[in-house]
Amino acid sequence: MLTGANLDINQINSNVPVILDCIKGDLIIEPDKETETYYDKIISDYKERKFYESDLLQEPAISEDGIQVKVQINVDNLFDKPDLPSENCDGVGLTRTEYLFTRGYLPDEDEQYEFYSNLIIWAKGKPVTFRTIDAGGDKPIPQLTPENEMNPYLGLRGIRLSLSEIRVFRTQLRALLRASCLGKVKLIIPMVTENSEILSVRKLVKQEISDLRNKGVMAEMPELGMMVEVPVAALQIEDFDVDFYTIGSNDLIQYLASVSRNNPSVSGLYHADYPALWKLIASVTAHGKAKRREVSICGNIAGDSKYTQKLLAAGIRSFSVSTSSVYAVKAEIRSTSLNLK
Ligand code: PEP
Ligand code: MG
Repeated sequence: MLTGANLDINQINSNVPVILDCIKGDLIIEPDKETETYYDKIISDYKERKFYESDLLQEPAISEDGIQVKVQINVDNLFDKPDLPSENCDGVGLTRTEYLFTRGYLPDEDEQYEFYSNLIIWAKGKPVTFRTIDAGGDKPIPQLTPENEMNPYLGLRGIRLSLSEIRVFRTQLRALLRASCLGKVKLIIPMVTENSEILSVRKLVKQEISDLRNKGVMAEMPELGMMVEVPVAALQIEDFDVDFYTIGSNDLIQYLASVSRNNPSVSGLYHADYPALWKLIASVTAHGKAKRREVSICGNIAGDSKYTQKLLAAGIRSFSVSTSSVYAVKAEIRSTSLNLK
């Protein structure tokens, strides 16, 4: 996918050949013969590499000195199975459930249950982490997110919105709790700012479990984790009573640097090279280690192999990445020595 291009797509005539190079960030309209040949070669090399990678993909990510690191996948699309067998990863570290709500209506409990169940069945006993609806900000949802907010990224989004639209939230929790009997399900709460939000979610989850059980429906208490993406939450991580943490570096960078994650005019400031970001990641992983609670990372830097070594050095031992990044991240982990006693 190429975003932020300064181009009116309607100006391209239909039936005109184009080459979309999302690695370089180029859209080439009406390429000449030489360019076409160049890209044909790139495509055939890519296919060959994929074929060779498919063997190595099945192997676990074990560092040079024998430490196993988790490589899980991010799932945005619940409508199809992930394009990777579950044997090739350590489960799902992030499911962006909000995309189920973008089809013009809010799906009911049974429809949601179907989608969640399909993913759990695909995982064959490996953990599946569902993030509760993270609507708002860059993910507006008709009938759910408020319109005309002054500053939607700082407004009613993530768990703030779910706790104010309690009926929609309870419906989602019931579907997830029912599905949690089918495998190892974990729940993750987006945009957590205060521990009071975690307490509210825990209370709701317990109520829904007991209501379901009273009706004779099986429901399990899943592990409850938080997205670490709001700077105050990262800075005072010891305040939160959760079972695990997932660093959302996409939003964490946005809020730390006060730079929108999707505004091309300031995109030069939106990057992962702020030392403050790395100090914060290291302090969250140190806290997780002291408390024996898993800290994983699921923002885009988790899947960018140029940051793998730096993340390992910051104490990350669990990654959640898009399926297309699994191979590169595993390969990078395998070539790194963690030097642990
Ligand atoms: C993040 O913020 O890093 C993240 C993984 O969540 P999203 O990109 O969906 O906001
Ligand atoms: Mg986020």
